[in-house]
Amino acid sequence: MADGTESESRKLLGRLREVMASSDAGQARLDRITHLIADSMGTEVCSVYLFRDAETLELCATEGLKPEAVHMTRMRLGEGLVGRVARTGRVVNTPNAPAEKGFRYMPETGEERYSSFLGIPVQRLGESMGVLVVQSRDAREFSADEVYALEVVAMVIAEMTELGAFVGEGAALSPLHQQSVLIRGGTGQEGAAEGHVWLHEPRVVVANPIADDPHRELERLNEAVEQLRVGVDKMLEMSRTGDKEQLQVLEAYRMFANSKGWMRRMEEDIARGLSAEAAVEKEQSQARNRMAQVQDAYLRERLADLDDLSNRLLRILTGQGKETGAELPADPILIARNIGPGELLEYGRSLKGIVLEEGSVGSHAAIVARALAIPLVVHAERVTAEALNGDHVMVDGDQGIVHLRPDDNVVSAFRDKIAMQAQAQERYASIRDKQAVTRDGQVVSLHMNAGLMADLPSLDSSGAEGVGLFRTELQFLVRNQMPKRTELVEIYARVMDSARGKRVVFRTLDIGSDKVLPYMKPNDEPNPALGWRAIRVGLDKPGVMRMQLQALIRAAKGRPLTIMFPFVAQAEEYRAARQEVDKALERERRLGHVLPETLEVGAMLETPSLAFAPQKFFDEVGFLSIGGNDLKQFFFAADRENERVRRRYDSLNCSFLSLIERIVERCAISGTPLSFCGEDAGRPIEAVCLAAMGIRTLSMRPASIGPVKSLLRRVDLMDLRKVIADARHRGEQSVRPAVMELLRGISDEV
Ligand code: PEP
Ligand code: MG
Repeated sequence: MADGTESESRKLLGRLREVMASSDAGQARLDRITHLIADSMGTEVCSVYLFRDAETLELCATEGLKPEAVHMTRMRLGEGLVGRVARTGRVVNTPNAPAEKGFRYMPETGEERYSSFLGIPVQRLGESMGVLVVQSRDAREFSADEVYALEVVAMVIAEMTELGAFVGEGAALSPLHQQSVLIRGGTGQEGAAEGHVWLHEPRVVVANPIADDPHRELERLNEAVEQLRVGVDKMLEMSRTGDKEQLQVLEAYRMFANSKGWMRRMEEDIARGLSAEAAVEKEQSQARNRMAQVQDAYLRERLADLDDLSNRLLRILTGQGKETGAELPADPILIARNIGPGELLEYGRSLKGIVLEEGSVGSHAAIVARALAIPLVVHAERVTAEALNGDHVMVDGDQGIVHLRPDDNVVSAFRDKIAMQAQAQERYASIRDKQAVTRDGQVVSLHMNAGLMADLPSLDSSGAEGVGLFRTELQFLVRNQMPKRTELVEIYARVMDSARGKRVVFRTLDIGSDKVLPYMKPNDEPNPALGWRAIRVGLDKPGVMRMQLQALIRAAKGRPLTIMFPFVAQAEEYRAARQEVDKALERERRLGHVLPETLEVGAMLETPSLAFAPQKFFDEVGFLSIGGNDLKQFFFAADRENERVRRRYDSLNCSFLSLIERIVERCAISGTPLSFCGEDAGRPIEAVCLAAMGIRTLSMRPASIGPVKSLLRRVDLMDLRKVIADARHRGEQSVRPAVMELLRGISDEV
């Protein structure tokens, strides 16, 4: 077969196509394929091994080995030469198989008679599906051309497996995509959801991997690549003035799109009988394989660029854009490698859950998912390769687990969990309009955190008394460009309209650290959390802050207005910001705009330094809100985004409570209103302890209001105070154990 490889492999593919077109189904079809490969290659044996589950390969068809071994012979991933091919994704080509390291003889197959062995991975887009093997008695090494031809055939088998071409009676070959899979990732947003997969970027389906007419396929490839190049050039032209990083990616796209090597390999694949889209996919598969092995981050990114580019090319060739004709299921669980916050917002609350292969706790998508209270799992490895549109899926945001195509046991256990959560929600709904008043008559005011228009309906449904923290940066983060002042006026006015007189605390832009605006030049800072962020940016470059203040005043149209500055580390910063407010008021007055009826201006206490500011500051500031997320990160010097350390220190640690106590006392001396708006406010146990420490206003995610109110209504704050004081007195590290002990004894009634 060394001579005239092209026509030989084309002939082989032509025969394969006949098999596919025949009425044979399942096993018979696979049997005929192994027969014709052995025949064409001139080998005694041809076998196909496919995965039964993620770890086990099964001999599914053979020409030459003992027929009774079919569906009986199984091996673990990595076991024997076949297992090695599957695990490494690399070809094994040897004239003397028994002498190879790792060779394992399977007596039931009768393979001991065969000396030479050629194993080719059957894979689709880097996803291993099985192994194609040819063996022969004479000790020969297969030529590069033979290897190549068989790779092309393996590619077609992978496509056919993906399409379920071998599923049929008798064969019972279930392709990987019909098996249940558990994927462990990280928690992005708590909550449990059941639904059906909706792939953000659906897989392109290659219906015909074999070329009818290679000349026509070559033309199709050339036309598509030309279209791709024009598209990339256009994108580059449009981005010339934009973000440097994006430009780099596009330059890389262009380099690949013009790469002669890439083109040549695809042309060769077509000459050997593949259709244009199958040729693109074959190259893409190999790039993904390399990606899995490359350590260097830069190279990995470039391979990821090539992957994206291949996807674009496939879409051009197949005409399958994002619109595949598939309908969004009624209960969609979005699955994506990654997604931008804007795209996520477009789906909005229609989503039941989100699973991201990449993503991170602090990513913008995670921020949006949290704002929408949609369960989110991040770092879910291989989920985009495993999931198919419409698959049944269960997302456990609490544990960071995804059950894809779950079996009945998982389904019923999971549904119990969802039902319990729903029951709890019902119980919370019953106290929605009641006050959070403790057993000893203390009233705690519960507000919600928000940042998107999508949050506002929760103001009514959660029973929040107002918005204790409106994170204005979210409106900036979900856009591709800086919003205009008129847009901001409109947004803020809508927020106040929907609040219908309830207080909304607008926090001015809190960017920097983990919140980087896509359209602002990123600053390379060694420690961004300690860097140029929030009010520091606002004061150094006051343009945006002034625009925001102006927009807020105009949006208020004479209504009461509350403004809060983030990340104030010393009194002087607050004073400078406060002056900006006064200047803005004066400017607006001169321009003839109506001024707010009342104006409150306050600061977030997020750095330990502010707790120790002169008492005069507490006298001056309109109100304070403790940003517990940042305050805790700086108090314990433990990065809130770093999985390794972010849970290391307990918020109920006695030292931290001492700091809270100090802030409460200092506010009391000056009569300064104090609230707490970090995540801890929404955790029932932490929330009751904060109330016991004297905080009477808590602001949290809307979904937390029910559970927090429920617990507050069942505790006696004086009892709790005493338990906390005793634990501190005993010198315990955290008051949690003592508090838990007390709470175990209280009633379950809401
Ligand atoms: C905080 O730091 O606690 C806070 C509420 O602000 P953010 O989480 O937006 O930094
Ligand atoms: Mg903060």
